[in-house]
Amino acid sequence: MKRIYLDNNATTAVRTEVLEAMLPFYREQFGNPSSIHWAGRSVSEAVEEARERVARLLNARPEEIVFTSCGSESNSLALRGSVDFFEARDRHVITTAVEHPAVLNSVRFLEKQGVAVTVLPVDGDGLVDLEQLEVAIRPDTILISAMWGNNETGTLFPVAEIGAIARRHKIRFHTDAVQAIGRVPVDVQAAEVDLLSLSGHKFGAPKGVGALYVRKGTGLTPLIHGGHQERGRRAGTLNVPGIVGLGVASELATADLDRQVPRIRALRDRLEAGILSRISEVRVNGHRQQRLPNTLNVSFAYIEGEAILLFLDMQGVAASSGSACMSDSFGNSHVIDAMGVDPMMANSSIRFGLGPDTDEEDIDFVLEILPPIIKKLRDMSPFYSEKAAG
Ligand SMILES: *Cc1c(COP(=O)(O)O)cnc(C)c1O
Repeated sequence: MKRIYLDNNATTAVRTEVLEAMLPFYREQFGNPSSIHWAGRSVSEAVEEARERVARLLNARPEEIVFTSCGSESNSLALRGSVDFFEARDRHVITTAVEHPAVLNSVRFLEKQGVAVTVLPVDGDGLVDLEQLEVAIRPDTILISAMWGNNETGTLFPVAEIGAIARRHKIRFHTDAVQAIGRVPVDVQAAEVDLLSLSGHKFGAPKGVGALYVRKGTGLTPLIHGGHQERGRRAGTLNVPGIVGLGVASELATADLDRQVPRIRALRDRLEAGILSRISEVRVNGHRQQRLPNTLNVSFAYIEGEAILLFLDMQGVAASSGSACMSDSFGNSHVIDAMGVDPMMANSSIRFGLGPDTDEEDIDFVLEILPPIIKKLRDMSPFYSEKAAG
């Protein structure tokens, strides 16, 4: 059976160039980058080269990059590290209803510690209202956290506008750019970002490595205490192979914007148009233009997303129902719910996340097998027969 992987928003394959660059750092170059002897020095040089590569990807300076273990750690460090850094009287944080659980659950944790939180709602396309954001700002607001691109729907927030608002009010701005890297240009200067999270395994580097961009002058209390690694912002011996891989993936990500993204976008559009022309009563979730080029989230009335995924999987197609981090909890996606989508439609949503390995044949195969799957499930659905009868 052909296997088609369309879940690149959950994770991506490690790229060959990335893996090859990493391998020597498991064997010959095993030293601790903090050691001053020969075994440490060359490793430390490789780490600093990777730091430069990640910085270049974001238009940042190398000393503004803190390596972490994942996107979730980067988000936690940005939020908790910021709140801890400020005085107890300055404790108001603004975020949005569609953030990744790593942000939303950090915010809930902070709330229990007495931090005031405003969670901004989104409209039917998954966008926040910038006027509402301005109104939410208070004298004690220290941080706005708003993601760059949504992992479930692909909707892109107007980060530069949010950054400008934060700058005008002298509030720090954190953005979770985990899904945006390698898919849209990400520039911390243009968007006036102070803190930015990224994760290796979402763009061709391995699992277990991430980074937080910390603008110069942005104080942060560490989450992990210990040695003086990462200029005191994150203790622990560095994951050298992962960091080297992250550096190579960062270079490839920049090249991909011209080399891969237009092709992936065309394939996504082909999938979307094909589904809309072959299947009735479908809703595309997310902003139709301001959207990650690889992401398509669709709802099929009267049936359950989980059932569609099982049938797709039986034919070798891997897709998902929104966030992988939520797939073991029942109930609808908090993102689709926040967009005000009718609960039955929300329950029938599935997400396709295309990647560099996706080709036209894959898309055409999905377009061939999906309509009969939807028809079969609708024929079994009590909601569908009710509608036909009524
Ligand atoms: C995957 C993801 C994360 C979490 O990254 P991990 O490295 O898996 O912890 C955070 N934010 C978004 C938007 C994501 O898609």
